[in-house]
Amino acid sequence: MKMRRVIFPLITAILYCGSGLPLRARPAENPVGQPLRYEIWVKLDHAQRMLHGREEISWTNTSHDAVPDMLFHLYTNAFKNENSTVMQESKEESLFIRARVKEGEWGWVDVTKIAFEDGTDLKPTAEFVTRDEPRHPGDQTVMRVTFPEPVAPGATVRLRCEFESKVPRSGMRTGYYKDSYFIAQWFPKPGVYEEGKGWNCHEYHANSEFFADFADFLVHITVPENFVVGSSGKLAGMVPDAAKKTATYTYGQSRIHDFAWTASPEFIKVEREFIGNREVTPQEYEETAGRLALPLEEVRLPDVKMTLLIEKQHRNQIDRHFKALRMALKYYGLWYGPYPYETVTMIDPPFRTGSGGMEYPTLFTAGTSVLKSRKALSPEGVIIHEFGHGYWYGLVANNEFEEAWLDEGINTYSTGKVVAKAYGPGEFGASFKGIPLGWFLKLPVYYDYETDRAAAINIAEYDPVVTPSWKFYNGGSYGANVYMRASTCLNTLERLLGADIMARVMRTFNMRYRFKHPATGDFIAVVNEVSGKDLKWFFDELFFNTLNFDYGVASLRSVEKPVRSLGVFDVNGKREEMTVRKIAELEKKEKPSRNDKIYVTTVTLRRFGEARVGIGVPLKVRVVFDDGSEEVREWDGQGRWARLKFEKPAKAKLARIDPDMIWLIDSNRANNGFRIETKRKGILKVAAKFMFLIQNLLLAAGSVS
Ligand SMILES: [Zn+2]
Repeated sequence: MKMRRVIFPLITAILYCGSGLPLRARPAENPVGQPLRYEIWVKLDHAQRMLHGREEISWTNTSHDAVPDMLFHLYTNAFKNENSTVMQESKEESLFIRARVKEGEWGWVDVTKIAFEDGTDLKPTAEFVTRDEPRHPGDQTVMRVTFPEPVAPGATVRLRCEFESKVPRSGMRTGYYKDSYFIAQWFPKPGVYEEGKGWNCHEYHANSEFFADFADFLVHITVPENFVVGSSGKLAGMVPDAAKKTATYTYGQSRIHDFAWTASPEFIKVEREFIGNREVTPQEYEETAGRLALPLEEVRLPDVKMTLLIEKQHRNQIDRHFKALRMALKYYGLWYGPYPYETVTMIDPPFRTGSGGMEYPTLFTAGTSVLKSRKALSPEGVIIHEFGHGYWYGLVANNEFEEAWLDEGINTYSTGKVVAKAYGPGEFGASFKGIPLGWFLKLPVYYDYETDRAAAINIAEYDPVVTPSWKFYNGGSYGANVYMRASTCLNTLERLLGADIMARVMRTFNMRYRFKHPATGDFIAVVNEVSGKDLKWFFDELFFNTLNFDYGVASLRSVEKPVRSLGVFDVNGKREEMTVRKIAELEKKEKPSRNDKIYVTTVTLRRFGEARVGIGVPLKVRVVFDDGSEEVREWDGQGRWARLKFEKPAKAKLARIDPDMIWLIDSNRANNGFRIETKRKGILKVAAKFMFLIQNLLLAAGSVS
């Protein structure tokens, strides 16, 4: 999701108001024919705002455990009443949007039947469970059924399930508005069985997304005949029913772990082709293969069918949408590996369904408004980000409940790089009464890594980046940590390792963990393997702890070195005292030339934060002197401070720690340089002030209570 509900509207509000191992693709380990398979029939009753569903699930126990039960997500029940975990957590945190449900607008899902294929009824064993701490009893988003006897390793269970669901008016990510529907997290869905640990099946939380197993899906969606449908997967056919004035669309897709769809009579549907060899030049293929140390054949991009469903009032932005999607398909594909599905569907979601900026396999939602400045790169940034989740979470399917940074942080980092490559920096998207100010004024432009950093550097003390999503201090800390702080740390890592090594790290991680569920430790192992270094310290300091990273120059001084010293000296067997007067007399006689003067320069460095660079990873310090010369030294950065001394025939002008700006995560860059006779140019001042403003607004977002 794009920066989630708390952070994203705020940023929107701010921005719009206002070693190289070979990286060969490994053969897929789960060939087609997943251990999990769904066939679902769902009918939308538009008048009643109801879904009537029937579901066949087949699940093979691939573990070595005998499995006694099955846990299901019933996400829609998050919007059933105020006792749901989402509603309780929202109240505890007093988040504005969520608990505001109007009369008659609650949504829910009821499993009316659940049985084995042979008819063995499991419904009497069904119960709701709440296991996450702190507990929120009353939540009904996780259901357990107990099998008559445990499912043996290798055995397959075939379940038949029927469900009724009231679509919430506007739940988080799912809902309706007038005639438009966006349907997500809607069907009873098993958790992920983890060998030796049981079912990983968390409740729906206010600050959390999802986790599920790869599956084959076949879904039949029946809607009123005038509705335009968009869906995960590939359209296999449509059967109209003239008598009932409905149409049934069948979509299928293998190797995906979620399935969402949308239906509205208001959409314009546009289809275009992404042709890999037309989008990428031969030189680009060669450059990519060279950088990744891969054979040319492995970086070639397949063709993809792109579908856009867009609201009629946004029709003049169709080309903008497709350009952003083409850029995303191109660069995610070149950098992280070929997109493995035939289709991608992009939705400009039904107005006010609360479903914008969200990712699902082979389908994502963006969101735009009627008046847009081209230079502000919105909706482009959201399109690129949400498509990017097709790689980070869609393919590399981390547990978003437990380690959200693994997709959100990596994908925010990736988004920034794609946007920069495809468009350059984006304009500060200020507007007045919905009218973009960029139409009339020249506004400052920024790269994502700069705005991400502004949001990331002051939240270190709240929570470690690696924290279960529902255990963050609040939505602000969740958002700023898993998106922007993680992304800023990855940009720092890139600067530390070099762009080529980092590119190989990301490629290896994506290709190796496609269709799997990696954890943070797997990412660190890939970083170490590909870089040939041990970077455990980097993650300990910046991902698993709440340590502020801040190195700086505390002082810089140059004083003339006296030729003679005061005091008593032994000269030819006699004691002589050198006094101020004597020195003055001697110097009058000798008249030392100006060029003989030597200056002692002292630079005092400090570690203001708790975080430390790794041992053997020193910080660079550059001192510039007024004769134009430069000296570069290193500091191991382990102590709280260090003092460097230089003796030169010139005074120092400027000292800077980390002059190449490797440590983007440094929370205060202003103290990194110390200048004698500071004269800042006006424009720099304005830019610095502006970033300070963004930081403060984001901080305010984090502490909304
Ligand atoms: Zn996201």
